[in-house]
This record gives sequence, C-alpha cells and structure tokens, in this order.
Amino acid sequence: MKVLDAIRSVAGQSAALHEPTFGRNESRYLQDCLRSTFVSTVGPYVEQFEGELAAFTGSAHVVAVGNGTAALQVALRLAGVGPGDEVVVPTLTFVATANAVSYLGAVPHFVDSEKRTLGIDPVALWDHLNSIAESHRGGLVNCSTGRTIRAVVPMHTFGHPVAIDEVLAVAEDFGLVVVEDAAESLGSSDNGRHTGTAGLAGVLSFNGNKIITTGGGGAILTSDAEFASKARHLITTAKVRHPWDYLHDEVGYNYRLPNLNAALGCAQIEQLPELLASKRRLFAAYTQAFSSIEGVRVVAEPSGCRSNYWLQTLLLDETSADKRNAILEATNAAGVMTRPAWTPLHRLDPYAECPRASLSVAESLQRRIINIPSSAGLA
Ligand SMILES: *Cc1c(COP(=O)(O)O)cnc(C)c1O
Repeated sequence: MKVLDAIRSVAGQSAALHEPTFGRNESRYLQDCLRSTFVSTVGPYVEQFEGELAAFTGSAHVVAVGNGTAALQVALRLAGVGPGDEVVVPTLTFVATANAVSYLGAVPHFVDSEKRTLGIDPVALWDHLNSIAESHRGGLVNCSTGRTIRAVVPMHTFGHPVAIDEVLAVAEDFGLVVVEDAAESLGSSDNGRHTGTAGLAGVLSFNGNKIITTGGGGAILTSDAEFASKARHLITTAKVRHPWDYLHDEVGYNYRLPNLNAALGCAQIEQLPELLASKRRLFAAYTQAFSSIEGVRVVAEPSGCRSNYWLQTLLLDETSADKRNAILEATNAAGVMTRPAWTPLHRLDPYAECPRASLSVAESLQRRIINIPSSAGLA
C-alpha cells in the first residue's frame, strides 16, 4: 500500500505513534531528587521548572499542576465556571477538555472546527452564539437551555495554533472568558506569541505522549498574578499560610506537581529546542514522501503560525475518506502505529445530550484524519 510505504520510507519498518526522548540529565536530576529525599510536592525542581516554562513561553506566571486535565479544571473554576454553566469547547478534541468542564458541574457546549487550523472556527462560533444566545446582565444566556455560557476553550489541535485573535474577538463580543487548552502545543506560536498565553489563562500537559513529559503533569499559564496565586492556593488544598496550624479556607485540591516529576521536566525542557527542530524535519520528510501520492496530504502549520508538529497528521481528500479504516488496519497490522482523530465528543455516551452547534466540518475532518508516527527520534 502506498501510504504504508511512504510512512516506512521516513519512519522505518515499524514505529510507535509517539515516544519520549530522554537524554543524560533526566536520570541525573531524578537521582538528585532521591538523594535529597525531596520527591513529593515540595522541592526546588518545581520552582525551577515553572521558571523555565515561563521563560520559554513568555508567560508571566506559571503554576505546575499534577496533570493537564486538573490544570484545566482549576483554570476554568478560577475563570468563574460553576455548576449549571455552559462552556464552549470544540467537539474535535481529546475528552479531557470536556471532562474538566464536567468536573465543575458545568456542561460542555460543542462547536465546529475549521479546516485551516483544525481548531474552533471563529466565524461559525460567532454565527452560532448570535443565533442561540442572548446577553443578559448576569451573562450570555443560551435561550434553549436557559443556562449561562461562561467561557470558551480553544484547543490547538495536534500542536497547530487555532485562530486565537479571532476567537478572542468573538469572546469579547459575547462577554466570554477564554481559557486555552494548549496541552498539545508547547513550542507552538501565532505571530510570535506562544499558545496558551493569549486568553485569561492557558493550560499545558506533560503526559507521556506529549512533546515533553514529566511522566504525568501539567501547568497553568497566566499573565494575571492574582489568578496564579489563587491557582497555587487551590491546588494546595486551599491551605492558609500558618506557622503550625491546619487551616483551609475553601474546598481545594491535592493537585500539585511532585518534585520528582518536575525534575524530569527540567531535563526535558533543556531538550525542547532540539525536539522542535526534529519534528520540523520529520514534517518535511513526510511532506516529501507523500507529495506524489494522490488523495492525501500532510497537514502543515497555518500561515503566520509556528506549529510544534507534535503529531504528524494525514488528511485524506473527501473522495478518499472511505479508505481511512483500511489504511488504519493495514498500518497497525504491519507494526506502523497510526490512529484516527478522537471520536467527536458529542458522539460519546456521556456527552450525547449536550448542546451543540452544527458540527459538519469537525465530522468531515474526523472521517479523514490519520495520525502517523511522530516521535522526534525518527527525524
Ligand atoms: C493531553 C491532553 C489533555 C490532558 O492532559 P493530561 O495531562 O493527560 O491530563 C487535555 N487536552 C488535550 C487536548 C490533550 O491532548
């Protein structure tokens, strides 16, 4: 099969979808943690990792969190999302985006994606909100559910930046808060501005399959000092500073990132520039390998943006969409790991009853996307 051969010409006979790259400092810093006995939620690597992330992303404040989903939950809670609210999310995203909304007792409201970025379509979003919602004093009300729509969560799909300026403009028109799900896009930027730094807050993930990993981990990015300090408070069981007593001023979470994980992160972020360069080389190699194959192309970064090319993505033409499953079957059977895009969230049982816009572009993209081996080590 042509697709299998093209992947193999770049990635070799067999390949995983995404494997981490470890250098020498990962084990050095981990050993240092063990020697120091600071392996848990206190220790110098957490602060160091936060500082390095701030420097890399240009975010004024970074709060390390136990994982990306928890980071999103806390960021949304601090953005004012509460029980009975609705939060606008793309249907074409990993389930964690909607789960974080649900943990707060809020309801995801699914919107469509655009072909150019694979992320929220700002024009369709404006039209949809304009047709279903009304501005009241207390906020934007969904006329058919009576619930208040509080926030919008643009997600940078596979590392490709969403049209964030346009999404921000729509959010401003309708009085919505923007929290970016930048879990997949560390190293991606739009006109030089790092993803996750445009809205009130943004969230990163350092899960094992992301561009850098802390084993499990995440972070909240924000330019708002008070937001950052409230986030730190909430993830530390809302414990009030006191020389010896246990005082907690609200129901907080145990969501901090352990020092052990942050140590891994410090070693990983040293490698990030090289990982990003490798992923660009991999994209170029795949683009070359697929240039002569009909009916399919490798998805490139949107113009004006720099993508981290976290997951390399094939997009089949409409006329070739019916070949997707055969390609997935053949490549996986041959030891070349490929995956479809996520099942659109509105089609999952727990989210089937949620409010939604027309989702035809996301549905079409989902039928045509195939992610192919993307480890930096392949370049
Ligand atoms: C990975 C991911 C998350 C969640 O991150 P975890 O660290 O795994 O909890 C959230 N949103 C998207 C889009 C992701 O890809």
